[in-house]
Amino acid sequence: MADYRQMWQDLDMDLETHDLLCEVLPQAFGDVYLSQENRPEGMGYYNFVVSEIHGVRPAELIEAQKAGAKVFGTFCVYVPDEIVFAAGGIATGLCGGSQFWVPGGEKVLPTGTCPLIKASVGARLDRTCPFFRIADMYVGETTCDGKKKAWEILAEDVPVYVMDLPQMKRPQDTDDWAREIESFLIRVEEMTGNKVTPENLAAAIKLINNKRRALARLYDFRKLDNPPISGKDALLISQIAFYDDPTRFTQMTNALCDELDKRVKDGIGVYAKDARRILLSGTPLAIPNWKLHHIVESLGAAVVVEEMCTGIRYFENLVDESQTTLDGMIRALAERYMKINCACFTPNQGRIDDIKRLVKEYQADGVIDVNLKFCTLYDVEGFLVERSLKEAGIPCLGLETDYTDEDAGGLRTRIGAFLEMLGSK
Ligand code: SF4
Ligand code: SF4
Repeated sequence: MADYRQMWQDLDMDLETHDLLCEVLPQAFGDVYLSQENRPEGMGYYNFVVSEIHGVRPAELIEAQKAGAKVFGTFCVYVPDEIVFAAGGIATGLCGGSQFWVPGGEKVLPTGTCPLIKASVGARLDRTCPFFRIADMYVGETTCDGKKKAWEILAEDVPVYVMDLPQMKRPQDTDDWAREIESFLIRVEEMTGNKVTPENLAAAIKLINNKRRALARLYDFRKLDNPPISGKDALLISQIAFYDDPTRFTQMTNALCDELDKRVKDGIGVYAKDARRILLSGTPLAIPNWKLHHIVESLGAAVVVEEMCTGIRYFENLVDESQTTLDGMIRALAERYMKINCACFTPNQGRIDDIKRLVKEYQADGVIDVNLKFCTLYDVEGFLVERSLKEAGIPCLGLETDYTDEDAGGLRTRIGAFLEMLGSK
């Protein structure tokens, strides 16, 4: 990585502790990613983005701030980036995916909090992530109890705006979410000093829809008999989508897809012909959480799709682009976002239906339902998911994990046994 020490110092980061993180990340990335054979050349861009993760994009965000833009840090795929970009702001995902930040979160949160929340709070309070330092405002939501309370702790250190997400999917809940988007729009306007107009909102809707289209195109390759890209690489791209510049990300992902088209024509795939195909479902895998994909694919199987927020929940369903008024666009945003099936909703049958649909679309042989330790929502919902899949005759393995490597051996054994149970093709 180039030398960004001055930038990190200016962000008031804890340089000594941050150095430790900079030492471990390249090793982990090398072991998990660069060790793969036969990767598409287009992955070079995403390798570069990760190798410069705390440098290039943070530097761009700071430049944008100098030019007057505001940066909004988000933690959930329900927060509509479109509003932020319409007002000339920049939205960037902030979810923490590394064990490195967990002890910092545990200084103020109960140990029995999910690692995603602990890592996110730790990254801010320990001052070891530039993205968490740069954001002018954090945008939280009322999805789970741990997050709701974490916003109050974070708000003592950084401005936090919380969106009140309905937790049912009745018509009045979509109305409520539309109103909530309106209130967010007003706050974003105040913060940026810019008006959201039908013109700039229409452009922002197109911008984010185009990112969704590129991701959908990428995921389509994973439906093929012999996918030309690994699940690990697709996960990395999904994770980078949360914080990269959306225009550049879309261009690079479409360029990669052009290469994948060619690989398909040339019959180039990345897996052995008899590789078992796995759908991963459950809690999100924030960067740099690559543990499960790495274990599954090291065992010779293919992760062909993620029914997760770092996966299809992020890009499926476009916002209607035909609206011309601000009200119409806000309504279209509310309707699109309310189609996301998060376990914070009751009931959440849509998620189970999605898993079954995706099993067919991606020709999955089995499902691994993943729960981040201490996430009660997905843990409890796991019972319904696994029972329903069993009734449908779809093999399913429920797993709980966190960000440490301590359970890697046990996971490997359980996943290995599951793959064996799936039998050979
Ligand atoms: S799992 Fe739920 S709370 Fe978490 S990012 Fe997804 S929609 Fe948001
Ligand atoms: S994984 Fe579960 S507990 Fe953790 S932030 Fe997401 S919804 Fe909340």
